[in-house]
Amino acid sequence: LPALPRSALALLAAATLIGCASTQVTRELACGAEARAAVCIGPISAPETHIDKVMQASQQAVELLHDPGFRDDIAAFQRRHASMLSRYSAWQGLDADGIVNAMRAALPQVSITSHDDGRSAWLWYNPMIRNRAFEGRRHADGSLGPLSLNAFALRSASLPQVVNSIVHEVAHAAGMAHPSYEREPYVGLCEPPYVLGSIAERRSGGELRSEFQHCRALIDMWQE
Ligand SMILES: [Zn+2]
Repeated sequence: LPALPRSALALLAAATLIGCASTQVTRELACGAEARAAVCIGPISAPETHIDKVMQASQQAVELLHDPGFRDDIAAFQRRHASMLSRYSAWQGLDADGIVNAMRAALPQVSITSHDDGRSAWLWYNPMIRNRAFEGRRHADGSLGPLSLNAFALRSASLPQVVNSIVHEVAHAAGMAHPSYEREPYVGLCEPPYVLGSIAERRSGGELRSEFQHCRALIDMWQE
């Protein structure tokens, strides 16, 4: 582990204590509205203090995946940055319709839990990691374990940021990856799960954040 400054250690200790005190609650399903009332993910487990935010974000994620605007944003990004994306192995063979269809198809397999132990605190407060979520583990029989939201990140996360995390992890569930993220974060942020999460965040009303959080090319597109 990298050495943490004293203040970070104090924060970590406090966070661990608070983390252990939180009560998890479970809701059965989060579904879309009206026409999508039968499209659901679940069960959803989160600390009592954040369950409403996670439920709302889950419902918005389901809605977004059926919103033509979400698909159009993906297509516009791919069109605008075709020459750049042609060098990104993670974008090969993907088009906006295929992406949206694969993500919709993954939804019935998606469930959500949260992690809030001491390691989760470290994964959140370490500025080099800032872990917000883990994708669900794919089991040998093909079933998918729950995606997990970091309870420490949830505390300060806006609703659109939680939508981002869920859509990012659904992209993983649909088979997409960001192979460059660990070595080259700026490239990784422009690979599918990050771009899809960022588009979802913006479409659900999230404010424009910096190139440390969104693909630079996406920011350029939004600022046009
Ligand atoms: Zn990821």
